[in-house]
Amino acid sequence: MSISKHLHQIKSQLPTHVTLVAVSKTKPISDLQEAYAAGQRIFGENKIQEMIEKHEQLPADIQWHMIGHVQRNKVKYMASFVSLIHGVDNFKLLQEINKQGLKHNRVIDCLLQIKIASEDSKFGMTATEAFEILNSEIFDSLKHINVVGLMGMATFTPDQHQVAEEFKYLKATFENLKHISKYNCNLHTISMGMSGDYKLAIANGSTMIRVGSSIFGARNYKI
Ligand SMILES: *Cc1c(COP(=O)(O)O)cnc(C)c1O
Repeated sequence: MSISKHLHQIKSQLPTHVTLVAVSKTKPISDLQEAYAAGQRIFGENKIQEMIEKHEQLPADIQWHMIGHVQRNKVKYMASFVSLIHGVDNFKLLQEINKQGLKHNRVIDCLLQIKIASEDSKFGMTATEAFEILNSEIFDSLKHINVVGLMGMATFTPDQHQVAEEFKYLKATFENLKHISKYNCNLHTISMGMSGDYKLAIANGSTMIRVGSSIFGARNYKI
């Protein structure tokens, strides 16, 4: 099946409150163009350099989401155009995003990444750390970021019960934090769910899914 068929099939089954991020990492420009022609406007990348190159070559009305782990010293390269940074997992990174937002005279939307997986390899902060950041005085001075929600990645396991529990935990964390309402904190997004688990994620409260291989096919990391 073609990219546009995959896209239409996924979208036709999505509840209206769920946003689809098409994860195009490692995929060639032509694949993104096909998705664009089919109406897709939100693309997710996990490497800043790759996102910059694609941003330069593709239409300006695409919203670019950084879904990968972000190194602080690289924020400056995407600050002028990134539309949402999913993987904010520490306060220093948030401060750097704010600094770069100021330089570019814009407010950059961010999600706080919460560690929900049992694997050591997955990034993210604890729910307590997120609570402390959002309630800190110094957070209130960050005028060039807007924290709009939370992001999480479940454990890579066939155990659907475990994955569901991890999604439930992120949803519960969101419910605990969403009363924190500030000019730079407006929590409405829960980014969870990928190709293998997005239906389970939606059933457990996801409002934004990040889907790659189910749209573009399996990735080949050797190229
Ligand atoms: C690659 C990636 C995805 C998409 O994975 P698929 O299984 O191909 O849908 C989603 N989220 C993050 C953070 C990723 O790095």
